[in-house]
Amino acid sequence: MKRNNLKFIIILALLTFPLPDSPGQAPIFTRQDTLRGSITPERSWWDLTYYHLDIVVNPSDSTIKGSNTAMYKVLEPYGKMQIDLQPPMNISKITLGGKELRFTRDGNVFWIEVDQPQEKGKIYSIQIEYGGKPVVAKRPPWDGGVTWKKNSKGLPFIANSNQGEGASMWWPCKDHMYDEPDSMMISVNVPGNLMDVSNGRLRNIEKKKNGTKTYNWFVANPINNYGVNINIGDYAHFSEIFKGEMGELDCDYYVLKENLDKAKVQFRQASMMLKAFEHWFGPYPFYEDGYKLVEAPYLGMEHQSSVTYGNGFTNGYRGTDLSSSGWGLKFDFIIIHESGHEWFANNITYEDIADMWVHESFTNYSEGLYVEYYYGKEAGADYIRGSRMNIRNDRPVVGLYNVNYSGSGDMYYKGGSMLHTLRQIVNDDEKWRQILRGLNRDFYHQVVKGSQIENYLSEKTGMNLGPFFNQYLRDVRIPVLEYFVKGKQLTFRWGNCVRGFDMPLKIYVSGKEMNIKPTTAFSTIDIDTENAVIVADPDYYVAVMNVTGK
Ligand SMILES: [Zn+2]
Repeated sequence: MKRNNLKFIIILALLTFPLPDSPGQAPIFTRQDTLRGSITPERSWWDLTYYHLDIVVNPSDSTIKGSNTAMYKVLEPYGKMQIDLQPPMNISKITLGGKELRFTRDGNVFWIEVDQPQEKGKIYSIQIEYGGKPVVAKRPPWDGGVTWKKNSKGLPFIANSNQGEGASMWWPCKDHMYDEPDSMMISVNVPGNLMDVSNGRLRNIEKKKNGTKTYNWFVANPINNYGVNINIGDYAHFSEIFKGEMGELDCDYYVLKENLDKAKVQFRQASMMLKAFEHWFGPYPFYEDGYKLVEAPYLGMEHQSSVTYGNGFTNGYRGTDLSSSGWGLKFDFIIIHESGHEWFANNITYEDIADMWVHESFTNYSEGLYVEYYYGKEAGADYIRGSRMNIRNDRPVVGLYNVNYSGSGDMYYKGGSMLHTLRQIVNDDEKWRQILRGLNRDFYHQVVKGSQIENYLSEKTGMNLGPFFNQYLRDVRIPVLEYFVKGKQLTFRWGNCVRGFDMPLKIYVSGKEMNIKPTTAFSTIDIDTENAVIVADPDYYVAVMNVTGK
């Protein structure tokens, strides 16, 4: 049993977490990390309005070549612009209003001399021509890049995945999450026997004289960098209409032709997911762009309105239950988890990857809510409690700001348990659901700082959750309810916690439910029974210790 668990944890560590740092090992950051992770003066003066990414993807030599046209509004004129593109990709030419601009390379960054007049409030368009052989993804989606695979008939099967490393692995852009274009066109030219599926809606297909085809996809909503994707393969397509809170939602499914029958069964979970998540989180955030589930040559990723799927058409996470509760095998982890990100990641997007918990904590929690929607409240809670076995408490959930550095992989399971704990404190299921829906309404299509989400939750719950978030997001300790019983008196406090930690807690005193309000100082209350047995409600992620050792 233990051996199996250990093996399981090792597999998880290999598969699930992007940054397995050893505890205590201080990361070293470079100037390049700062250029990538901060809002530099060369970024802040212009506001993105539109991208047109127009590329040729050539499977025969694994190259991408083309251009990105970026339209932007001048906020404050500044002579220098930062555009990101990582080696070995290279920029060949940059023009503004048809005139060539000078530029220099500085690692992953290109400094562009904008020597033409730039009027405040006006919109300009810059065209960047580029190309090269992008980095091949070593371990997609965790170590990103482009994956070049083949299907069973030997036809190319290609996709990108680059959360963390950045979209600039394969196309030139403003590679920081704070600024999203209001809309985007993605034009992808591929060999005539293949199809490209990207984000948004397919506008048209252009047949070229050389036998290739260009697929033009238009995204009508703001889109984050890492959400932009290409999926190229010998696809079959089927579709359905989901009748949701905002009317009819077009759902389109693209899978390799050889997997069509399996997909038609497994993808029934897509509409089940939409039903459950619209209930908990509010309307699907991108009706204009439709919802798509697209087979990809790796496990999966939350690409906006074209969620990618590679979970083998089986339930669980590659067939296993990450929660060990049994409930994890009742659903397809990738369909549910990656689609949950449409609300938390694509609708509400972190500004800095240090706050990646805004994406992963809520989405981990969404798995439990999905289970709850179909199997009941206790089942959902059981799933979340079971998932705690994956918590490492190795380093804080929140990462480091301005250097593109995310926190611990605990942002998933510990983050989900933190939200489940918060729900216990709120102790009002409908109020809790309205808070989750309110987040998606009030931060609709917005890029946020984690602190905005923390403050919102404090405001809407009517509690000062500052110490609560400091405990679970910025500390690695599990708070311990320290107590002792003397006759008919119970004395308790919070230990092993941050300053000011004062989370209310539900306990059972010899089986009888009781709500207490511990602080970091001991307090004593009267209880009915002598030598009572004290148990904390298991839905709170806390530890309990009788300080007398009894
Ligand atoms: Zn996720």
